[in-house]
Amino acid sequence: MRSYRAFLDRAIRSPEAFWAEEAKLIEWQRPFSRVLDYSRPPFARWFVDGTTNLCHNAIDRHLAARAEQPALIYVSTEIDVEQTFTFRQLHQEVNRFAACLKGLGVVRGDRVLIYMPMVPEAVFAMLACARIGAIHSVVFGGFASLSLASRIDDAQPKLIVSADAGSRAGRIVPYKALLDEAIERSKAPPGSVLLVDRGLAPMRRLAGRDHDYAELRSRHLDAAVPCEWLEASEPSYILYTSGTTGQPKGVQRDTGGHAVALASSMGKIFCCNAGETYFATSDIGWVVGHSYIVYGPLLAGMATVLYEGTPVRPDGAILWRIVERHRVSVMFSAPTAIRVLKKQDPALLKRHDLSSLRLLFLAGEPLDEPTARWISEGLGKPVVDNYWQTETGWPILAIARGVEAIPAKFGSPGLPCYGYSVKLYDEHTGQEVGPNTKGVLAIEGPLPPGCMTTVWGDDERFVKTYWHSVPGRTVYSTFDWGIRDDDGYYFILGRTDDVINVAGHRLGTREIEESICSHPGIAEVAVVGVADQLKGQVAVAFAVVRDARAVELPQQRKNLEAEVMKQVDSQLGAVARPARVHFVTALPKTRSGKLLRRSVQAICEGRDPGDLTTIEDPTALEQIRSALVSA
Ligand code: AMP
Repeated sequence: MRSYRAFLDRAIRSPEAFWAEEAKLIEWQRPFSRVLDYSRPPFARWFVDGTTNLCHNAIDRHLAARAEQPALIYVSTEIDVEQTFTFRQLHQEVNRFAACLKGLGVVRGDRVLIYMPMVPEAVFAMLACARIGAIHSVVFGGFASLSLASRIDDAQPKLIVSADAGSRAGRIVPYKALLDEAIERSKAPPGSVLLVDRGLAPMRRLAGRDHDYAELRSRHLDAAVPCEWLEASEPSYILYTSGTTGQPKGVQRDTGGHAVALASSMGKIFCCNAGETYFATSDIGWVVGHSYIVYGPLLAGMATVLYEGTPVRPDGAILWRIVERHRVSVMFSAPTAIRVLKKQDPALLKRHDLSSLRLLFLAGEPLDEPTARWISEGLGKPVVDNYWQTETGWPILAIARGVEAIPAKFGSPGLPCYGYSVKLYDEHTGQEVGPNTKGVLAIEGPLPPGCMTTVWGDDERFVKTYWHSVPGRTVYSTFDWGIRDDDGYYFILGRTDDVINVAGHRLGTREIEESICSHPGIAEVAVVGVADQLKGQVAVAFAVVRDARAVELPQQRKNLEAEVMKQVDSQLGAVARPARVHFVTALPKTRSGKLLRRSVQAICEGRDPGDLTTIEDPTALEQIRSALVSA
């Protein structure tokens, strides 16, 4: 333990020496002249002047040693397909894709929006962008047209890559129709759309704008597209995430720092070796998909599993069947997926040969002790909780078992990862709090390599939102509550802002509120996150109707609730649909008009609503209570 702490100290005290060493894990075309430029805090520039390319490091550099080894293993239980691409084949496909992008006029620095189901072409598209220096922005396929339109407007992509449809739990999920709707709503429509036709749903093609990928690909079968060498701080991608406002933030990631941090984490945190297989059950639309389906494993010379399907189809053993079949060494999933499996026959955990599997990593939401114990004992494998966010791109808190397997504690993701100077502050005074006291979890600058470098197109928002929210300090706020015990282990106690976490998916309550409010019958609404046994949290809405007569009868309330849910589905996507919509005539607010969100949430969870001295109309809280009782 002492040597582990000394290692963490070294990374904080001598970041330049530490990260210069880690930077050797990737190949540079031109070496960097400085490890860190922090002359303009909080903007950190890592590996200044160094030039590199993510695609080169993920694919080309492995060709010499492992061209015929698997790189991408596509498993779809939705369309019953399994397909393995070796590094050589992946290289070829990415070159073809890159040639198509170039043929459609995409150049270095252009944005390419990727709105795709979990198919190999989505990975080709990401890597092809990296290859030619285009900035990809993957939008989760579960988002609907309004969410998509706001991301198109912000990223202003030159081109969008999409498909006819996806499939979820055996049901076809249309993509193209939603994309058309989004483009119609958008103020910055793309010049071209490149479409993968899976033959799942009919597609309307717009002449001149929409291109067929298979057709274009066939013209570039022998393509050899050279890598663009990017300066380390040039952006590699934008990934939108929710915050307090209704407007999603474009988390911008650099190139060099991103490559180094991920390559480093693969060994030091995930204990992986080249030639092995990694299986992350996430989606490429989320940060875990970016870091640990696509870039991390490939940078490490591993095969990565791309899984299109759910954990319970065709049965609750499917994940373990994949582990057995592809000799998976390390797995990454979310607590919700494990809680779903907990409802299945525990014998399913024992049906397959899991001897290749060493570790199961879980992240994205709090990992409760019963779930951790159940899966760890059921599989007979260590489970590693790790805490991070879209913004950081790799774990903030975890036990870096590749450094030393120090003991874990249930309920805690562990200690800060190397390079993160984690602190806890009092939310009102900004004073650092000691052990066993709840505080806002923050990180002192500079953020280590791999973390967000700014908000896309909005440096001011980056500084104001993330660095000025702890009173009197310029520190990066995670917007999570945390507590540290006497041994220095951290525990996460939920968000300090209005972001909720449903089944590991991060959602902004503000976005959901805006969508509900656009219903003509609704005057005002409050959406809160409420604890849920399976999903961690669910969204619950309390809506004030314009005309109370519209919800007098139970059947009317039921109909309006269904209508509101449908509206959220069509605008934001089913992922954002509230579990319930209750109707009230007033919302509990302070006399200055601020919604008492935490009190509403407390009542929903059967807790004490806290200090209500500032409430304007106490009957509004009573309405929340009775709405819940009568529901
Ligand atoms: P996202 O940006 O979607 O990855 O969501 C990040 C948020 O998920 C964090 O700010 C936390 O609120 C939550 N989170 C992620 N990992 C964990 C974890 N291991 N334990 C508790 N909360 C987590």
